[in-house]
Amino acid sequence: MAQLVEGETGRWEMVIGLEVHAQVISEAKLFSGAATAFGAAPNSQVSLVDAAMPGMLPVINHTCVEQAVRTGLGLKAEIHRESVFDRKNYFYPDLPQGYQISQYKNPIVGRGEIELDLPDGSTRTVGITRLHLEQDAGKSLHDQHPTQTMIDLNRSGVALMEIVSEPDLRGPDDAAAYLRKLRSILRYLGTCDGNMEEGSMRCDVNLSMRRAGDTEFGTRTETKNVNSIRAVQQAIEYEARRQVAVLEGGGTVDQETRLWDPGKSETRSMRSKEEAHDYRYFPDPDLLPLRLSEDLIARIRESLPELPDEKKRRFMDSYGLSAYDAGVLVAERARADYFEVAVAGRDAKLVANWVITELFGALNKTGRDVTDSPVSAGQLGALVDLIADDTISGRIAKEVFAAMLETGRDASVIVEERGLRQVTDTGAIAAAIDQVLAGNADKVAEYKAGKDKLFGFFVGQVMKATQGKANPALVNQVLKERLSG
Ligand code: ADP
Ligand code: MG
Repeated sequence: MAQLVEGETGRWEMVIGLEVHAQVISEAKLFSGAATAFGAAPNSQVSLVDAAMPGMLPVINHTCVEQAVRTGLGLKAEIHRESVFDRKNYFYPDLPQGYQISQYKNPIVGRGEIELDLPDGSTRTVGITRLHLEQDAGKSLHDQHPTQTMIDLNRSGVALMEIVSEPDLRGPDDAAAYLRKLRSILRYLGTCDGNMEEGSMRCDVNLSMRRAGDTEFGTRTETKNVNSIRAVQQAIEYEARRQVAVLEGGGTVDQETRLWDPGKSETRSMRSKEEAHDYRYFPDPDLLPLRLSEDLIARIRESLPELPDEKKRRFMDSYGLSAYDAGVLVAERARADYFEVAVAGRDAKLVANWVITELFGALNKTGRDVTDSPVSAGQLGALVDLIADDTISGRIAKEVFAAMLETGRDASVIVEERGLRQVTDTGAIAAAIDQVLAGNADKVAEYKAGKDKLFGFFVGQVMKATQGKANPALVNQVLKERLSG
């Protein structure tokens, strides 16, 4: 459902389209052989092409092209058999060529789509307008010297995929769901690591407002430099309120580029339409049009992994999981793989519950990933077996699991060492029950006089007396017999 903004004069709807720059996973840059590793010493990964030395010519890196095609196929998009590299001309100190090689009228990938998983478990499809390849610029460093700006060209020429969405998003939650799903798909495909903190996925937010029920779009602003999912949500909330205030005050929204200030949590004007760049795009005369063969596309299509949406459907169909549980498990490939090892031959809902609630809960608390889990998938499965065959109760299993997380040891070892085996000996349970009933004669009388709720009290006392080890089903059964006598 649309998320509406309550104004002074009525309700307003947000219209949002996102432009995401995703750094292509590739050893070398888009048009040079220089390396792309993150965190290298400044200017240590710069070829003569990246530094725009006179006479240097770009040579296309086929790996980057294949990564773009792979991404396009993962977004169920049209792959254009012919595309063109254009020069986007502007001056900036970190752009030694004086232009960025990009794709303008003829991008490598056209229309596609992404399925959003919304918080209420429903899904919605959002259109992808296009994906094109372009070079990244260098980086200006303003904090290295008191009076001078330094330039690091390591990023200059690194391949980016610009992925543009249709204006199909209607609020901050939609935008977050879109970015999460896009990042998940890119990671499954292995075409971008999706790491927003390191800048390998960056986002521009286009937003306009219209009165609820209107069908025409309003004038939009484009907010740049929004580099985490949380920041995207905050920028949308801020910008929506700002535009509503302008419109309700009788003004008009300027079509302008704005900048997100993460320190102040606000957007501010960067340049208006009048100052908008004229990039004087034209086809780069140093590069031929890019032609893709059917063979290449078919080969890449065959190599695609099972993607999150397909995996989610399979988890729901073959394991009977809810949309929510399946969505959580498939969000990262490593999580899904962990679950599939743990679930083999076991009750899927029980295993899913242990993986999601107990394991992910514990890992989240310490900021760890499933790949760093001290408890392996096989070990977690073995713990679930002990619950299923009544060796331990679910309650005791939590205690065992906490010890497993701490020590990395097997559940069975911990159960034996600590004497946590469930008591299933009816005689022992009956003895404990008799003791509890004898010690609470007044409550027994009240129960027999009709205060049914006391049954839970007796169960609790018996469990306490057996250190939680009595089999709960047996306790219930024997207790009922004794109390009806
Ligand atoms: P530009 O080339 O100026 O960036 P595009 O047509 O490529 O313009 O649009 C960029 C982004 O803006 C896309 O994500 C698109 O969905 C979004 N967009 C276009 N019109 C609107 C609008 N009226 N409100 C919100 N977003 C919009
Ligand atoms: Mg744009």
